[in-house]
Amino acid sequence: MAPLKIAIVGAGVGGPAAAIGLARNGHIVTLYERAASIGGVGFAFRITPNSDRCLKFLGIDILASGGVAADWSRFMTCDGRMFAEVQENGRPEEKGISAFAYRTELQKQLIDEASSQGAHIKMGVEVTSIDVASCTISFADGSTSSVDLIIGADGVHSCIRPYVVDSSVYFPKASTADSCLRATVPCQAIRDDPITSHIIDDKFRLSGWRADDRLVIGYVVDRGRQFNLVCTHPEELSSSETSSGDDAEKTSYNQKISLETAKTIYKDFDKVVVRLLELADPGGFRVWKLMDMDDIPRWSKNRVVLMGDACHPVMPFGYSGASMAIEDAIALTVLLSSDVGVAQVEDRLRLFERIRRARVYRVRDESRKRSAGSKSEADLREYRNFLSSYDAVGYAEQELKKHQELVS
Ligand SMILES: Cc1cc2nc3c(=O)[nH]c(=O)nc-3n(C[C@H](O)[C@H](O)[C@H](O)COP(=O)(O)OP(=O)(O)OC[C@H]3O[C@@H](n4cnc5c(N)ncnc54)[C@H](O)[C@@H]3O)c2cc1C
Repeated sequence: MAPLKIAIVGAGVGGPAAAIGLARNGHIVTLYERAASIGGVGFAFRITPNSDRCLKFLGIDILASGGVAADWSRFMTCDGRMFAEVQENGRPEEKGISAFAYRTELQKQLIDEASSQGAHIKMGVEVTSIDVASCTISFADGSTSSVDLIIGADGVHSCIRPYVVDSSVYFPKASTADSCLRATVPCQAIRDDPITSHIIDDKFRLSGWRADDRLVIGYVVDRGRQFNLVCTHPEELSSSETSSGDDAEKTSYNQKISLETAKTIYKDFDKVVVRLLELADPGGFRVWKLMDMDDIPRWSKNRVVLMGDACHPVMPFGYSGASMAIEDAIALTVLLSSDVGVAQVEDRLRLFERIRRARVYRVRDESRKRSAGSKSEADLREYRNFLSSYDAVGYAEQELKKHQELVS
């Protein structure tokens, strides 16, 4: 069987993960990324045991790419009263860990591995449009490329999605009207400050403070060097401040705000939170509108398919956007094995959607629910098990086998 010629648009998280698997399967893969270098707007995110197992399957060690094992987390009311301590790791039977990924390094590791598996990496190349009927991609420099399969892994503001579904009906939306502020604090500054020094120790890597309408989560990343603050709030609390800086910073998901505004939003929180904001890089406060999307009626059209945030963006309350993109990559890897030819691609893309739909939409729905306030410990445990116990490789293999039995 001749290998498939595959173009993947977007080298964020899902794109390079799919490139590793599909190149390893023997296909001719080219990964197009419009950014000239690595280092997107996101700084860090959670990897759960299910996605860590996927990364291992792809030959990626999360701790080797600056990730920090999540181990224990503690959760407090906004004024600092502890209500839960949660152990994340310590279950060897999971064969995967919960960790905080340092986005830039993980992305680099994924792209390097894709390259070593034979994928062609094209950085600084922007895809401007596609032609679905001929499976052709057009680039900003006016050139084109015709392939057997186009994978849209180009994130929440996907340029591929409008070719698959009607973009006047299906588009990302701020379904809970929340925004998210991010800042980073050097861990050394936290240890040296008498108000915050107790927040970081060898056991607890994440601390969270919750009010009814706001949430502050801080966790250790970058080999223990930085503390990533992710702080959600109703969007009107930060929307009055206009962004400044270059064009890239004026996007709806990456606006600058001042320390003063940040402190005003969280002024009634524990003094530890306010001090953490004061210790953060004052030029580094960024605000995103949190977006997700309702179900779309199809994930593929002819030989064009969507994956990751391009297909099913989720809000960070369920800490699984990147994990879902990685699981998508694994499902595509299993379904588009070396013996799949062009004639089978559309069928396999429909199977991909059937396999993934229920899971990613549950994650989206959980994220929406969790934004509205904390759930009971039993609910949280059940959701954690739902996330962590999923075997992306095994499930895709099992469903493929059933499908092949049905069609044979
Ligand atoms: C504040 C915040 C906190 C988050 N926290 C978590 C968390 O704790 N856990 C978690 O799992 N997820 C989290 N996420 C979500 C996570 O970052 C995304 O879900 C994940 O990055 C999705 O991966 P992706 O590959 O689908 O898309 P992306 O990572 O967005 O990558 C898309 C890529 O496509 C490129 N691109 C776009 N258009 C084009 C084009 N026309 N041509 C070429 N290239 C293009 C972009 O430059 C980008 O590199 C968080 C997100 C936010 C905003």
